[in-house]
Amino acid sequence: MFDLSRQISELYSNLRKSAEDKADYYNSIANNNFNYKKITKQIIEISLELSKAEFKNDLKNITSLKSQKNLLLEKQDNILKNLGLNKNKLNPNFLCKKCNDTGLANGKVCDCYKKYYSKIFMENFNFDLDNLHKFSDSKIDKYNEKDFEIIKKYCEHFPNSKTKNLTFLGKTGTGKTFITECIASDLLDKNFNVILITAFNLATMLKEYHYSFSKSSSELIKIINDSDLLIIDDLGSEPIIKNITLEYFLSILNERQSLNKHTMFTTNLSKDEILMKYNDRFFARLTDKEISLILELNYPNYRLKNN
Ligand SMILES: [Zn+2]
Repeated sequence: MFDLSRQISELYSNLRKSAEDKADYYNSIANNNFNYKKITKQIIEISLELSKAEFKNDLKNITSLKSQKNLLLEKQDNILKNLGLNKNKLNPNFLCKKCNDTGLANGKVCDCYKKYYSKIFMENFNFDLDNLHKFSDSKIDKYNEKDFEIIKKYCEHFPNSKTKNLTFLGKTGTGKTFITECIASDLLDKNFNVILITAFNLATMLKEYHYSFSKSSSELIKIINDSDLLIIDDLGSEPIIKNITLEYFLSILNERQSLNKHTMFTTNLSKDEILMKYNDRFFARLTDKEISLILELNYPNYRLKNN
């Protein structure tokens, strides 16, 4: 099983290193320029003089030193400009300005941490978050119009949408995965923590967790339970292992419900088949009208915008 904490800390350290390496590279270009080096030295010297004058409250000198310094700074800017650089480029340009790519901002976990968590988690299962389908890719027609309306409203009100469990039924090729990707991508863009996993991978993970309890596997289960939205793709494709699969699936659903978290399923199974394959309690959760919604995608042919 993969070690997510280690992967995340590696990701942050790579992000920082890449920003710092870039800044180092630009600094080396600037420092190889004779005039830049000379002027930078003069600026340091004059800044020191200025501090002294300010300490002595030597007003006459302060004014003159300030204007000399400004002139030098202007010259320094021009040299950088001629080198194709600017002062910003000489400092590391971190992707997240809130935490400088450390994952912590003001002693708290930064917003970007959640995003990377989902990203890395899913990359371990070969989901490429940068290539998820988006609502803008969808072709709305008379068949899918109503469903898209419901789904877009759901995303708009997330996480306060009344529906907490959403199940998409439909044969292969009816666009279930497409729709859940649109939802995932919409909510990820809004910085929600979304986990997309196939039922098969989830069942495999739960089996490993059950048989070889380890820190990393229990951490993964925690991530699944804590995610704002958990999407379990292709329910029914997983092997049912006695005393494990059904029990854990139900416990995940219960746990998430008690935390007011959202869970989504896609499946080729019909309602009757779900009832037969899983237990009554699981079925009852999915069909509980108070908080659950089942959408049957029966479009003749779902298509992408450009198809
Ligand atoms: Zn951040």
